[in-house]
Amino acid sequence: MKQQRVVLASNNPGKLREFSAILSTVGLEMVAQGTLGVSEADEPYMTFVENALTKARHASRATGLPALADDSGLCVHALEGAPGVHSARYATQADGVRSDAENNAKLVAEMSGRTDRRAYYVAVLVYVRSADDPRPTIVEGIWEGEVLDAPRGTHGFGYDAYFFLPELGKTAAELSPEEKNQVSHRARALQGLLQALSNERNAHSMAKTL
Ligand code: IMP
Repeated sequence: MKQQRVVLASNNPGKLREFSAILSTVGLEMVAQGTLGVSEADEPYMTFVENALTKARHASRATGLPALADDSGLCVHALEGAPGVHSARYATQADGVRSDAENNAKLVAEMSGRTDRRAYYVAVLVYVRSADDPRPTIVEGIWEGEVLDAPRGTHGFGYDAYFFLPELGKTAAELSPEEKNQVSHRARALQGLLQALSNERNAHSMAKTL
């Protein structure tokens, strides 16, 4: 299969590995934007999709390649969707220092005394064929759970030790990386992207034969 180089609008090696493994099956060769000298784009928007779209357009404009970007976070029902797009910097201090421990401490404090513990992780993926692509491919993965008030488990990152999955009886931090990569919001979004790109490819080859 002919490979198409695609710039990944992230420098996270874990994401590069996860995305490359799946997208190589549809002929996409992922390259991290840092390797191509692309700076990080700002993420000033209120929604995951706007942030991901901005990152994808920025990476594509800088390289002339198709680009894939993601944006993700934790949304808590009782907190009207917070921390949402601010998940990485929920408890950022005045000096700009941010940490998972501070973010989790703030989450636990905000959830104190609340009975509705429902929350979900969301991952939005945006694929653009060119910087000004008028019809980007956009998919979303959702992973539902509940917020605990004490941590459990040692794997994962971010809010994982507080994110309880009732159907598994475990937090996300009690899953091995392999188990998490089968069921997470990012895994679900990636499966959606794979499906969307395969459908588009089939539609194109059908159109050529008509
Ligand atoms: P990013 O989109 O990868 O930059 O993630 C934004 C933030 O959302 C992270 O810094 C975490 O706080 C949170 N987050 C996203 N995905 C996960 C996850 O799988 N586990 C834990 N936290 C996550």
